[in-house]
Amino acid sequence: MNVITTKAFVMKSFPWKERHKLLHLLTPELGLITALAPASERMKSDIRGATQLFSLSEFVLTEKQGRYSVRSAFVIESFVPFYNDFERLTAVSHASEVFTDVARHDEPNRTLFDLWAYSVYEISVSEYPVFIARMATLRLMVEIGLTPYLDSCVRCHSHVNVPYRFSFSEGGLLCEREEFRQTQAELTILSPDALALLRHIATAPHKKLFRFYASSNTRSEASDFADRWLEERMEKRYNRLAFLDENSTFLID
Ligand SMILES: [Zn+2]
Repeated sequence: MNVITTKAFVMKSFPWKERHKLLHLLTPELGLITALAPASERMKSDIRGATQLFSLSEFVLTEKQGRYSVRSAFVIESFVPFYNDFERLTAVSHASEVFTDVARHDEPNRTLFDLWAYSVYEISVSEYPVFIARMATLRLMVEIGLTPYLDSCVRCHSHVNVPYRFSFSEGGLLCEREEFRQTQAELTILSPDALALLRHIATAPHKKLFRFYASSNTRSEASDFADRWLEERMEKRYNRLAFLDENSTFLID
């Protein structure tokens, strides 16, 4: 039996066999792991906060034949804002679903843990949590190699000019010299501001990723881009945010 001490984010937490909890933990070194949190009376109070959904905690785990169990844990950051704000909670739930999908199929990846750390923090404090969640998932796609080609023409690599035409089927910008007859139907026009923002999200160091100003129109354009890129590349529908969109009038009232 090995004893491991690691930081981890609680990505999912659910009851297990009446008295216990199963946790999906995102760790820097082990990637996404499942750990049993036993509900002994002595441990209950110690680990309740540390095993709360979306908390960042330090865990002492025991490992036997690939099965992890929580021996002790303490909270580093509990991200209280998620529990007072439905929009924020929906945003972090969306991002967490995408990060979990990626982490489950990927090798353990320190970059992914770091990106999640910056993203979850920003979602907890930003004025625009849903937008931040969408930008975080776009950057996640870049980290795993599903990068939109935004620098120059995806076919001939020459410089692109306004209006910027993006082809989702080809995964990049197209210059004005390309033959558009076959692709025109599916070209998306990106505004210069939206393109600049998308380039920033694709390339900025994590530390500066969410340090930018964007107008409401630019945020909306970049959001549509990020959602479509995510769903087409992951070949999956992510529905959590649709609920917010459908109910936006209700929320504003
Ligand atoms: Zn070209």
